[in-house]
Parts: sequence; C-alpha cells; structure tokens
Amino acid sequence: MNIWRLSDINKEQISLYLIIITELSIIVLLCLGTIFMYGRYRLYRNDMYIDTVTLGSNLKRFKKDAKEYLGSDKNLVAAIVNINEFRYINDYYGIENGNAVLKFLYDKIHDVVGDKGICCRSYNDNFLILTEYIERDRFLYIMKNYLSGFTVTIGDRNIFFKCNCGVYFIEDKNLDLEKMFDKATVSYKNLSVNQAGSLGVYDTELDRIFLNNKKYIVHMQEAIRNDEFKTYIQPKICLRTGRCVGGEALVRWISDKYGYIRPSEFIPLFEKNGYVVDIDWCVLRSVKDFITNRLEQKKRVVKISVNQSRIHLNNPYYLNELETVIGEAVEVKPYIEFEITESTFLDRKEDSIELIKKLNKLGFSISIDDFGSGYSSLSMLKDIDFQVLKIDQSFLQKDGKMSKRADMIIKSVIDLAHNLGSEVVCEGVENEEQAETLREFGCDMIQGFYYGKPMTLESFAQYLDNDKF
Ligand code: C2E
Ligand code: MG
Ligand code: MG
Repeated sequence: MNIWRLSDINKEQISLYLIIITELSIIVLLCLGTIFMYGRYRLYRNDMYIDTVTLGSNLKRFKKDAKEYLGSDKNLVAAIVNINEFRYINDYYGIENGNAVLKFLYDKIHDVVGDKGICCRSYNDNFLILTEYIERDRFLYIMKNYLSGFTVTIGDRNIFFKCNCGVYFIEDKNLDLEKMFDKATVSYKNLSVNQAGSLGVYDTELDRIFLNNKKYIVHMQEAIRNDEFKTYIQPKICLRTGRCVGGEALVRWISDKYGYIRPSEFIPLFEKNGYVVDIDWCVLRSVKDFITNRLEQKKRVVKISVNQSRIHLNNPYYLNELETVIGEAVEVKPYIEFEITESTFLDRKEDSIELIKKLNKLGFSISIDDFGSGYSSLSMLKDIDFQVLKIDQSFLQKDGKMSKRADMIIKSVIDLAHNLGSEVVCEGVENEEQAETLREFGCDMIQGFYYGKPMTLESFAQYLDNDKF
C-alpha cells in the first residue's frame, strides 16, 4: 500500500517538474527570440538609414536629421551637388569605378560639411547638403573651391570629373524640405552645359524663369496642334538696288494662354529639350507652302532663309525628314536657304561640314548666321562651303553710329566673304547712316528694323507685290 502511495507521489512530482521545466524553457526561448529579433531590428534600422554605395547617410536619414537642424536658429543653407555627365564615367570606367567616384565625392562633401551640417546621396549622382553658414560668400567660396573639380585615382586610373552646385540660402525655415531643395535645384539646372564646375545661387528671378519654362514645356505640343507658332518674315534688302531680294523666316509664338512670347524666351529652352526641331519643321512647312503658292500664282518669289537649330545634327534621319517635309514640292528648293549659327560648328565641326555638303547637294543654299558673335575661328570659313555670310548685329553700334574699329572689321569680313565667293548680309540695321556705310563697304544685303520688321506671311506677300522699281 505504502509502496503504491510513494510511487504515486513520485509520479505527481515528476510531472510537476516536467511542467516547470517546460515552462522555463518556453520563457528562455521567448527571451532569446526577443533578443534576437531586437538585434535584427536594430540592424535593419541601421540599414534603412545607410546608402549602400557611399556607406554614408541616405535620404531617409537625411530627412530625419534635417528636422532637428531646421529647428535651430542658425543661418542655414540647402545645397545640391551633381556630377557633370556622370553617365559617361559609368559608361567609360564601369559601374564599380562609378560607385567609387560616388563614394569619393560623398566623403569629400562629408569633410566639407563637418559637424556643422548633414549630407547624403539622395539618388544617382545627386548629393544634398543642409548646413550652417556664417557668411554667404565664404560658403560659396568653399563650395566652389572644394567641390567643383576632382581627380580620383582608382587603381592605375585617374578619373577627372566636375560638379555643378545649386545653392539656396534658406530664408523661410517653415518651407518643406523638398521645396528648399527645389530652389537649390532650379539654380543648378539653370547652369548651361558649358558651365560645368559652376555654382548657381537661387534668386526669385530664377524661380520666375523656371516656372515659365515649365509652362512653356507643358504647352508646347498643344501649341503646335493649335497652330500657335506663326512664321513671320523679315525682308532682306539689296544695297545696290534698294529692292527686297530675300527674307528670313522667324518664328513667333502667339499663345492662346500666355499671349505673345518672344523667340528668345522659348528657343533656347526648346534647344535644351530638343522640341525646337518640331518648331523648325513647322516653319519650314509654312515657308514651303508660301513659296509654292507664289509660284503657282506666278508672282515674284525671293529666297527665304530658315533657321535650323544645331539639334538637328544629333538626328541621323534629319535629311530624310527634310525630304519628307519638302515632299513633291522640289521646285521650292532653289528658294530656300538654311541659316546655321556659327556656334554650331564649334561643337560638331566634322558633322556640320558633312551635313552642309549634303544640303548643298540637295539644292539648298546655306548661310552662316550670327557671324562674329561667338568663338568661331577663321578656319571654319576655310572648311565650309557656304553661300551667304550673315554679320552679327553686335557689330553695329546701338546708338546708330558706326565705330571705327567695328567698321574696319566689317569691311574686312565683307572682302573676305567676297573673296570666298559668298554674299554678305548685315543684320540689325536700324538707320540710314549704318546702311550707307555698309553700302560703301560693298555689303550685298541688309536686314533690319530700318527697312522692315518681321511681318506675317500675308503682309510679306503684299510687301513683295508692292516692291517695284
Ligand atoms: P537670328 O536668326 O539672328 O534672327 C535675327 C533676330 O534679330 C530676330 O530676332 C530679328 O527680329 C532681330 N532683328 C532684326 N532686325 C533687327 C534690328 O534692326 N534691331 C534689332 N535689335 N533686332 C533686329 P527674333 O525674331 O527675336 O529671333 C531671335 C533668334 O531666335 C533668332 O536670331 C534665331 O536664332 C532664333 N529663331 C527665331 N526663329 C527661329 C526658328 O524658326 N528656328 C530656330 N531654330 N531659331 C529661331
Ligand atoms: Mg537667323
Ligand atoms: Mg542672326
């Protein structure tokens, strides 16, 4: 009986121990699990804030820290740094070396910012800085000197690159962080490609231009469909006879929404994004129709020059598209001249020479526009087979007088062009005195407000009809 009882007690105790052990094990396991998960979570949280390429802060971390900085009463500046033509570095040296360049730049920026601010790589080759500053000029000096150009040595390679920086000295700390960096971006985007290694500083005028640019870009295609781009023609006058012997087609944007917009406001913008090509085709089409009409009506026709943007050089199908626009109307070809600005030859000399040869072969004539305004050298004249040289209006003094030195240059350029077998047009003639001097120098044609402003196609048709000896 006792034996039975004892064994009963043992059994109960054993099962009690077992329960306790099981429960303790569960508790220990739960604790270990929690510790493990917490460790993982901390690692995950750190990863969340680290940019894997630069091993520095990422945008998330930057945004988090920015809140603290913006709460301070110090002078703060938002700056954006972008590597100029970074894709070429990636293409040429490979992604790994590209990444090494990004890391190098992050470290440099981090050094410059020190403990006075924060920085991160936001995406691709864009870096953001939010930092204190004491004097604006001092900050700009540092940015320019330390961040504009670098040579990185990776293995046995020296990689050289330049950066563009956009800077916004923060006036309103309540602005969204995105808006602050938008302002810094506007000033950096406003830098032209040729200004690599430059620094743009935000001001309100930039904001206005940027907003305008945005709305022009958004409305451009619709404007083409609505026929808002109009071709105007400015007469070219023969200095020997005083008769109109040609015209230049100049585009005008008469927008339903924004009214009259000058070419200087939208042509440079559309040259950047390539839209100018569509405008050039519109203008060419209307010039073709104008000439065809006059030929059909057996009315007097003069040669019309049409501006062609340098962007066409990037299009391998340019000549095919040109033939498509002209179509069956081959009879217009002798009446069309293409104006190409001299600066086009700077970047793509060989391609330009080739293209001009082909245009000539197709039966179009060529004029070099704005001659003397840029950096073109005389060797350009040696290589290019042009029919007309257009002397830039900057050679004519704006007070109407001709300066002695400018006179000598104009005279020599006219002689030079004649010796090369081409004609000369001088642009921007605004008074009789200028016209008289140009006549004495043997200039063939003049174009300017003195003889006629750019006018609608209908007015130009009338102008031609009335232009009799
Ligand atoms: P550009 O080809 O050199 O055209 C001559 C510019 O000088 C025109 O300005 C014309 O109105 C202006 N001008 C003519 N006579 C005088 C004068 O006596 N005094 C002054 N101060 N200016 C005069 P616009 O029409 O504003 O065109 C500006 C520029 O825009 C053009 O310079 C050309 O580079 C570009 N552009 C105009 N139309 C087109 C186009 O259809 N396609 C392309 N790609 N560019 C165009
Ligand atoms: Mg022109
Ligand atoms: Mg010109």
